[in-house]
Parts: sequence; structure tokens; C-alpha cells
Amino acid sequence: MVFADLGRRLNSALGDFSKATSVNEELVDNLLKTICTALLETDVNVRLVQTLRSNIKKKINISNLPQGINGKRIVQKTVFDELCTLVDPQVQAFTPKKGKPSVIMMVGLQGSGKTTTCTKLALQYQRKGLKSCLVAADTFRAGAFDQLKQNAIKARVPFYGSYTETDPVVIAQEGVEKFKKDRFDVIIVDTSGRHQQEKELFAEMVEISEAIQPDQTIMILDASIGQAAEPQAKAFKETANFGAVIITKLDGHAKGGGALSAVAATNTPIVFIGTGEHINDLEKFSPRSFISKLLGMGDLEGLMEHVQSLNLDKKNMVKNLEQGKFTVRDFRDQLGNIMKLGPLSKMASMIPGMSNMMQGMNDEDGAIRMKRMLYIVDSMTEQELDSDGLTFTQQPSRVFRVAKGSGTSVIEVEETISQVRIFAQMAKTMGGKDGILGKLGGNP
Ligand code: GDP
Repeated sequence: MVFADLGRRLNSALGDFSKATSVNEELVDNLLKTICTALLETDVNVRLVQTLRSNIKKKINISNLPQGINGKRIVQKTVFDELCTLVDPQVQAFTPKKGKPSVIMMVGLQGSGKTTTCTKLALQYQRKGLKSCLVAADTFRAGAFDQLKQNAIKARVPFYGSYTETDPVVIAQEGVEKFKKDRFDVIIVDTSGRHQQEKELFAEMVEISEAIQPDQTIMILDASIGQAAEPQAKAFKETANFGAVIITKLDGHAKGGGALSAVAATNTPIVFIGTGEHINDLEKFSPRSFISKLLGMGDLEGLMEHVQSLNLDKKNMVKNLEQGKFTVRDFRDQLGNIMKLGPLSKMASMIPGMSNMMQGMNDEDGAIRMKRMLYIVDSMTEQELDSDGLTFTQQPSRVFRVAKGSGTSVIEVEETISQVRIFAQMAKTMGGKDGILGKLGGNP
């Protein structure tokens, strides 16, 4: 999970604070000290931490603070608001719209995750119904075009690039013109990675920008570079004047506070965060949701958006449940849905209180188990899929056949079937016209 250690520390400091019987200056000072130390240790800039501390102290007038629950709530709310301010420059980022081509240019250091993020971003917009495409204008790094091409093919996103043209300005211009003519809504242009000291490459970035006139330039900032993020971000801001930031590799990087500080220093909003190498590992960034998740308070809004964006397959199951039925096919569809949702820990962080419960649980084991279940149901016949699993109990030879066909064990097939049987039993009692689901109407 993103900033898991920081979240745990802030969570436990606020938890201890809420258990105290009375609110006094010493207690608030101790709370602030723990919060500030935790922030500094993730590489959040000292200046920002000092500002956060003095803002909180200014906002809560300790001598006039009501005692009991209300006093504690005021302190907790002020801490929450100031943490949000830390990651929110209050600047609106550009949002592409349907029907008008928007050009987005990606800039950043080499290895920051630009090429990977280009496809992730195109896919996000595509899922929102915007016709999206990619232009590979990174001619500096050998293999960059192939990498983008492979990702784009996997994600089924159209792309433009060249093995022979060496001038990135020409490629960018040609690609953008072509896709504008083809009436794409979002045209994402990947550029070469460059460092603030590489003056020529910086000049080339300006040339590309002047040629394609992007509606939005996004800087890709790698969370793992810690404090070094700030001078880099400032240099890019001066030259490329980016209007938004995507922070990558926030998964597992304890020093991500450096990138957060860089964003504050350039007064630019974070629009997405990269949370893994997989194509779905890009989360829309909203300051309040982010802090809410960090403090273990969940993010139900994000959860709803995430679930909706995945176009989960639920129509059949709802229809069946209304009739008090649950089939192996429903089980398979739901397994597929769960796999699409992403790692269990990521889902848990969006559900209030769940991330604490998930601590120590292994995503990999859960995912492996689910994958094997999918192999099992994928080895069944159409008739078996439409059954409630009873047919396997009546004809055990089916269990052996499926185990063999799916490369799993008889026990695993039996476990899967017994899971379906339990759900089918539940569906019988809950579904049907008179059951809870029937009465709710079960809108898909
Ligand atoms: P570029 O040189 O800026 O185009 O960087 P790439 O897109 O080639 O990415 C460099 C490496 O970072 C690759 O191995 C990516 O898989 C990895 N990467 C990119 N984004 C993330 C992320 O959000 N989390 C993790 N863990 N790795 C990432």
C-alpha cells in the first residue's frame, strides 16, 4: 500500500490522542511532534512540515478548546485539513473532453516511468469513453518505441511512431496531426527522458512543445528519488511549464514525501499516482481521498469510481439472483471481476477500517488461489457452468476430469464446487421474488 508505514504511524498517533481523557497543550504538542517526525522521515520537505505544524497550532486555539470529544474532533479535523493542504496546491488541472482533440505531452527524467504511464493514462481515458491514442516521440532511448508499441497493443490503444525517423519533433508533429485528423479525443505524446543538466535535450523538449502546442504538459515524477525530486521538478517547471504531475512508483517507496514536496514547490496539482508496474496501477489523485486512505479512513468515493471504471460484469448474476439461482457461471464471472479489481490490499485501503485488518495478509497467495479457481471453472462444459454445482456431487467423474483439464488437484476442484454450493444455497434463501434481493429490485 502507498505510504503504508507513514499511514500506520499517523493512524496510531491520532488513535492514542483520541483515547486521552482531556485535551491539553502537551498532548497536542506530542501529537504534532509524532506527525511531523513521521512526515520528515518520508522525505517531506522541512519547510513544509514546519508550515503544517504552525498552521495547525494557529488554527486550534488550545486555551479556548472545548474539553472532551468536541475538542479532540477539532484537533483531528484540523490535522486532516492541513494534511490535505500539503498535497493540494488549489490549482485546477486540465481535463480532456469528448469531441475535441486534447494533446497531452509527457516529460520527465529517464526511467521515471513515462512510457509505462502513457499507456496507463490512455487506458484510463479510454475507459471513460474518450478515444485515446499514443505518439512515441522518445527517439533517444533505444527500445522506447518498441516498449510503447508492446504496451499499446496489449491495451488495444492505437499508436504512432517510427523506426527510421530520428527527429522527435517530426514524429510528434506527424503523430499529433494524424490523430487530430482521425478525431481522437486524447493524444498522449511520450518524449525522451532528460536531466536538468542536459541543456540540449531541454531545448529539444521546448521545440517539441512549440511544434505540438499541448493542451496539457504532465511531469512524471519518480517517488523513489526522494528529496532530489524538488530541484528536478523546478528545472522542468521553468522550461516546460508543466501543468500537472503524475507521481510514479508510490508503491513501496518510503521516501515518496520528496515527490509530494516537489509538487508543492512548483504549485502544480497531482492528477494521478502510479502504484505498480501493471497497466491498471494508476489511481486518480484527489487530496482528500488520498489523506483519508492514508489515515485508514477509507475512500468509498474512489472505490465506487474504480468499480464503475472496470465495467464489471454483473447483469447475469443479478438476473439469476432475482430468481433465487446461483450458477458456476456466475461464480466464474465474479472471480473474473475480483481479478479485475486489482490487489486485495489496494481494495482494502478504500474500505474504511479494512486496511488495518488486511495488515500482514499476502496479496500474492490470494491472487494465486483465485487464478487456480479460474483455471478450474474455465475447464468446465457449458452445461456444468450453468449448473449450481450439484451435478459434480452426483457425478464425481466430472471432478476428476476438471482437475486433470485445469492442471489442479481434485481437492481444489471440490473446494471450488463447495464454495459455489454455499453461494447457491444463500441465493435460494435471499433471492426469488420474496427474498431480500427480489424485494430490492436488484438493479444491475
Ligand atoms: P521511462 O524511461 O520514463 O519511459 O520509464 P519506463 O516507463 O520505462 O519505466 C521504468 C521502470 O519503472 C519500468 O520497469 C516500469 O515498469 C517501472 N514503473 C513505472 N511506473 C511504476 C509504478 O508506478 N510502480 C512501480 N513499482 N514501477 C513502475
